[in-house]
Amino acid sequence: MSLLEIKNLHVEIENEGKKILNGLNLTIEKGQVAAIMGPNGSGKSTLAYVLAGRPGYAVTEGDVLLNGESILEMEPNERAAKGVFLAFQYPVEVPGVATMTFLRTALNAQRKLRGENEVSTPEFIKMVRDTSDKLGISPDMLRRGVNVGFSGGEKKRAEILQMAILQPSLAVLDETDSGLDIDALKTVSEGVNRLRSPERSMIVITHYQRLLDYIVPDVVHVMAKGRVVRSGGKDLALELEAKGYAQYTDEAA
Ligand code: ADP
Ligand code: MG
Ligand code: MG
Repeated sequence: MSLLEIKNLHVEIENEGKKILNGLNLTIEKGQVAAIMGPNGSGKSTLAYVLAGRPGYAVTEGDVLLNGESILEMEPNERAAKGVFLAFQYPVEVPGVATMTFLRTALNAQRKLRGENEVSTPEFIKMVRDTSDKLGISPDMLRRGVNVGFSGGEKKRAEILQMAILQPSLAVLDETDSGLDIDALKTVSEGVNRLRSPERSMIVITHYQRLLDYIVPDVVHVMAKGRVVRSGGKDLALELEAKGYAQYTDEAA
């Protein structure tokens, strides 16, 4: 069984009737790292939000199966407890909630929904310390409010830390590369690569090929006008870089 199966998914903006996804089909295998590329406005972020269960989108047709089970009726926290993780393109700031507290609360909330025990303090501190060291996240950053005063690169590293702590079975990274300089891009990519595992699938959404030099995908899917219009191996990303997206937007029209 595939980890994720998206079948003929049609999505509109709620109360507006604006169609964004138009019969999207996509299968992600367990342990696979899949890149989703495509022009601006093709619906990549919408797909990520619909997977995470963000309100404001209406699914009018089709289904999303995680390990064979439809997740469309589940609340975002239930989906998270089932292992779905979304790293936002534009991370939100949460003043007054220290990153450490936030991480622990998120982890324990998921464990509770799964019927597991809370993480012990020493266990949690060890988890955070091991990963934050590797990601170059300082203890001072961990004490600050979530994302408050973080640079673009620090926000992305904090997201990867979140992913390392929550250990999702499906991680969706939406334009994790946006706004990163080359050093930050390498740090973030190394963090992501360390989390690659046969037990974890990742969807890496990016407009540009650059990120895929560092996070080498198993497969590449091209989205245009709310559908997957082409799939291939990692070389497809290079071809897109050379030829641009116009051919796909024309084909999809
Ligand atoms: P991508 O991430 O590929 O750039 P998006 O999913 O952000 O694409 O957007 C797809 C299309 O849906 C765009 O035309 C965008 O303007 C539109 N869209 C996305 N969210 C909304 C919204 N909340 N209200 C109205 N239109 C939206
Ligand atoms: Mg966009
Ligand atoms: Mg987007």
